[in-house]
This record gives sequence, C-alpha cells and structure tokens, in this order.
Amino acid sequence: MAYRSPWMTEELDTFRDSFRRFLTKDLAPRTEQWRKDKIIDRQAWRALGEMGALLPSVPEAYGGLGASFAFDAAIHEDIESIVPEFSTPYGVHSNIVAHYINNYGNDEQRKRWLPKLASGEWVGAIAMTEPGTGSDLQAVRTRATRQGNAYQVNGAKTFISNGQLADLVVVVARTSDAPGAKGISLLVLEADGNDGFKRGRNLDKIGLHASDTSELFFDNAFVPAENLLGAEEGQGFVQLMQQLPRERLGLAISAVAALERAVQITVDYTKERKAFNQPLLGFQNTAFKLAERKTEAMIARVFIDYCIMQMVEGELDAVTASMAKWWSTEKQMETIDECLQLHGGYGYMQEFPISRMYIDGRIQKIYGGTNEIMKLLIARSL
Ligand SMILES: Cc1cc2nc3c(=O)[nH]c(=O)nc-3n(C[C@H](O)[C@H](O)[C@H](O)COP(=O)(O)OP(=O)(O)OC[C@H]3O[C@@H](n4cnc5c(N)ncnc54)[C@H](O)[C@@H]3O)c2cc1C
Repeated sequence: MAYRSPWMTEELDTFRDSFRRFLTKDLAPRTEQWRKDKIIDRQAWRALGEMGALLPSVPEAYGGLGASFAFDAAIHEDIESIVPEFSTPYGVHSNIVAHYINNYGNDEQRKRWLPKLASGEWVGAIAMTEPGTGSDLQAVRTRATRQGNAYQVNGAKTFISNGQLADLVVVVARTSDAPGAKGISLLVLEADGNDGFKRGRNLDKIGLHASDTSELFFDNAFVPAENLLGAEEGQGFVQLMQQLPRERLGLAISAVAALERAVQITVDYTKERKAFNQPLLGFQNTAFKLAERKTEAMIARVFIDYCIMQMVEGELDAVTASMAKWWSTEKQMETIDECLQLHGGYGYMQEFPISRMYIDGRIQKIYGGTNEIMKLLIARSL
C-alpha cells in the first residue's frame, strides 16, 4: 500500500510535478559542471527563484509564496533526490538565512532583502562558526563595535556555506562585553562594495564538491546600525536557539530523502547486476539487508513526517528536532555505507550515485550542530 505523507496536499502534488520536471531537465544536467567549478552558477539560483522554489514560506509581500512549511519540506526533498548538489546551498539560503530576516527583521529590512533572496538575484549565507569555535557558539569572538550610525566588524569565520557567492551574510558577532550568550547579536552584512569584508579561498573538502565553503574575514567591515536584526542588541543567541529546530529539521528532511534514494537505487542495481548466474538481489544476504534498510527508511519517513507536521503547526520543539537530526543522519550514513557495499566495486566509482552519496552525506553528522551536541541537548531534557 502506498504511503502518503500527511502534510501533502493536491496543490503540492501539482507543484511537485512541474518542479521535479524542471529539476530533472534544467538543473540535473549542470551538476557535473558545478562539481568541477566547486560552485553553483548564479543562473541556477535565478532559475530556482523563477520556479517559486526559493523562500516559499515567506509572505508574498516579501517575494515568497506565503505557503506553509510543507512547501519548504517538499522542495528540499525533491532537490535532495534529483540535484543533491544543491541541497546544502539551498537549505542555508532558503530555510535558514531567509527566516532570520523574516522572523527578526523589521518591515523595511524584509522589504529590502527578502525579494532579492526569493528571486535568486542575491545568495545568502550565515556565519556562525569561527576558526576557534564551532560547537561552543557562545565563545564567538567576532566583534561588532558601534561607531555612530554603523558597526565596524572585526574577526574571522570559517566553513561558511555559500561564502564565495554570498551577497548577504548574517553575521553572528559580539556587540558588547557581556559574557557568553548575552553579548551576541545578528547583523546583516551586504558584501557589495564592502572593503572591510574579504572572502578566503573556497575550501577543499572531501565531498559536497558543488557547494562552496569559505573562510570570511572582517577587517573594519562596515555594517549600518539599521542592519541589526531585532529591536535591540544582545538578542542574537536567543534568535539562533529559536531558529535551530527549523535548521535541524531541514537537515533531517534531506537525510530521509537521501536514505530513501539510497535504498531505491540499490534495489534497482541489485536487480540488474548478476553474479553466480542470478541477480544480486537473489542472494538472501542482499535481500535481507535491503529489507532491513527499507524498513528503517519507512520508520524514518513516519518520524520525519511527524516532525514536519509539528513544524507546520508551529509546535516543533528543539529536543524533537535534535532527535530527528541525530537519528536520521546516522541512519543516512549507515544505510549508504551498506548500499555501497551491496554495489561491490562499482559502488566505489564516482559515476555511480551511491559513491557520491557516501562522500557527500558524511557532513550531515557534523554541521548544523554535531550529532554529539544533539545527544547533549536530548540528554538535558531527560
Ligand atoms: C561543509 C561544511 C559546511 C558548513 N557550513 C556552515 C555554515 O554555513 N555556517 C556556519 O556557521 N558553520 C558552518 N559549518 C560549521 C559546522 O557547523 C561546524 O563544523 C560544527 O558545528 C562543528 O564545529 P567545529 O568544527 O568547530 O567542531 P568542534 O566544536 O571543535 O567539535 C569537534 C568534536 O568535538 C565534539 N564536541 C564538541 N563539544 C562537545 C561536547 N560538549 N560534548 C561532546 N562532544 C563535543 C564534537 O561533537 C566534534 O565531534 C560548516 C561545516 C562544514 C564542514
């Protein structure tokens, strides 16, 4: 019996039909070039914007579709399944950066930035991690000093997705000497013509080759005071904590889409490939492994659908989101590893998608808060 996600609607069915065709026909043929260039071209961003696939849950007045989180989820799943190269850049831009501006920006800020992000004219990044601190976000050292009507930002960030292309960066910076979380604010830095803002190299990663990742340097970088997110300084840490469930659920959604895809392509492959005069799927070991993985993919699907429903209702809590991120990304990597094994030597060849899923998927257990940090958060709730 076919299972249907409870958050799916007829409107979404129609949208996904044309969206999947667009991804397959217009974007999938470009992924090899992106991998070679180690970056996605701007034209592809604009094409996603034209499809209405960027910022769907932002209000129409600011360039979005005014849709529910179900649209975000569906789009992210389809990108993960058809052009996985776009999954991380998309998630950062559409599911994270846009929602800091939408949730904490005033009307003028939303009008200024969201339509450009929704059309794909501008690409967004979020800069939390620094060379000296990642998991311990309260220890950030990047400093924003108020000078009249502007901030001067000094410091360095690293591992920033979309860093090479970003026109707009949400910067996590210290705006006072208040210790720990209290002194942290979020500032929106515009890159164009900003002399104090420099991009480092596009970092050389083991996977995720189409997604650019950068060091960013701030040397008296200029940010107008009106680019502070929120009515007053010092709200940054609370804002980050409030948005983390959305970010983590986004990662979990892509993890479940990836593990479903891994099972499907391995079923297809093991039906075709023969050894000892029979399809690989005829070996009980192969069939049993895939039976187990298919069952786990179904369990993951039901759990993620529960989380998506909670998010649609505005009720997803941080602990449940951490559970979803930890468990689904662990299952993603376990499943992909086993599926690669079932492919034999071909699984190790780049032309077989399972090999790419293996190297690209590994980051999922690390970014968006490591899986150890997820367990810490869950454990605190016990
Ligand atoms: C490809 C890529 C893209 C990224 N994109 C972005 C981005 O767009 N923006 C951004 O701001 N950041 C981004 N990051 C950074 C990412 O979020 C961090 O790497 C991650 O949060 C971990 O921080 P860290 O690397 O400093 O590791 P560390 O914090 O040094 O952790 C090292 C190890 O120690 C463990 N550890 C740390 N603290 C604890 C603890 N209390 N208990 C148990 N174990 C602990 C960790 O789990 C990990 O295993 C990206 C990273 C990569 C690799």
